Amino acid sequence: MNILIINAGSSSLKYQLLDMSNEKLIAKGNCEKIGLNEPFISYKHDGKEEIFEGAKNHEEAIKKVLNILVDKEIGVIKSFDEIGAVGHRVVMGGWLFNESVLITEDVTKKVEALSDLAPLHNPANAMGIRACEKVMPNTPQVVIFDTAFHTTMPEKAFMYAIKLEDYEKYHIRKYGAHGTSHRFVTQELAKVLGKNIDEVKAITCHLGNGSSITAIENGKSVDTSMGLTPLQGLVMGTRSGDLDPTVVQFLCSHKKQSVDEVLNYLNKECGLLGVSGVTSDHREVTKEAENGNKRCQLALDLLAYSAKKYVGIYLAILNGADAIVFTGGIGENSAETREQIVENMENLGVVLDKEKNKNFKRGQVELISAPSSKVKIYVIPTNEELMMARDTLNIVKNLKKSK
Ligand code: ADP
Repeated sequence: MNILIINAGSSSLKYQLLDMSNEKLIAKGNCEKIGLNEPFISYKHDGKEEIFEGAKNHEEAIKKVLNILVDKEIGVIKSFDEIGAVGHRVVMGGWLFNESVLITEDVTKKVEALSDLAPLHNPANAMGIRACEKVMPNTPQVVIFDTAFHTTMPEKAFMYAIKLEDYEKYHIRKYGAHGTSHRFVTQELAKVLGKNIDEVKAITCHLGNGSSITAIENGKSVDTSMGLTPLQGLVMGTRSGDLDPTVVQFLCSHKKQSVDEVLNYLNKECGLLGVSGVTSDHREVTKEAENGNKRCQLALDLLAYSAKKYVGIYLAILNGADAIVFTGGIGENSAETREQIVENMENLGVVLDKEKNKNFKRGQVELISAPSSKVKIYVIPTNEELMMARDTLNIVKNLKKSK
């Protein structure tokens, strides 16, 4: 069965078509600048990339993508019927969803109702679902939540110590994110360790533009660094990560800005970008630091230090771990940052093989710890879309059986 994976943002819509008979990617692309000036659609297949005129809204974007996929000359399928199901990424499932589900009107309404907790993401995700339902009314649709994997966290991990009444009334708590990636690498780790998933104890570090670290016990998330929103936790590309909430009040009063403006600043202008003063792109910041730019080096130091702290916290919570896993654009590619995070942890049983960390074939699972390391260290490439497609396939298969 072919499965179409959709990741809808407010002005973009990423898509991937996967053939689940062999779990191979058939085509992918992005509808960018939807409804804005000069929108366009990229389309990659068989090592080629083409660009098409974009769309005014999400519904038009889906229609155009489908037309490209079935195009007689450049298409990869013959008709829409060759798409067995659609899987949609939704950022916030809140306390309502602990796993991927088949989409019904009730599910979509709940996704919309959760917008209060993810105002930048859920409305756009829901827009993608509604557009797809309109264009493909007979194709089953599934929703995969970024937060679902973290619903196994115990209360003591997900609660903030605010007044209990406020937590109960407003659902203010830690929800985490990147759940699909943490779940995928945990499953891959179980395979390489030759263990059942429910025997895995690990620390998974998803380091990309957005970054989070998760503590895994018995194959389940028991704590994670992101909070009510993705702003909490590590220093990221443009996010500050953890800070004293009083900083918000301080910035509001000194910069004469509203809370919304300061939160926007903490989400979009801080982190690597704010400290380096150059860019949020880790690779670029690394290059500049190598050329002697001190602000860039400081930005990298802050990022690695914040990650090291979470690794330490989770080693304490878990009482050691089978493995530390690095994934995401930075986790998979930056030997320097990996080394900075796990160096000087020998007394905690963590010993990196520095040579292996620098020299290995990218794009596959690699063990980069020394033989003496009690805690193994792995680089495991993530594949969130494949995880989403697997969930979608499982749900649709059961649907067919129960019919
Ligand atoms: P997203 O969170 O948007 O999915 P990615 O996981 O693709 O992001 O990660 C993007 C980050 O990975 C960027 O900061 C990019 O510079 C970084 N990155 C990619 N390749 C390298 C590399 N070879 N060395 C260092 N950083 C890299």
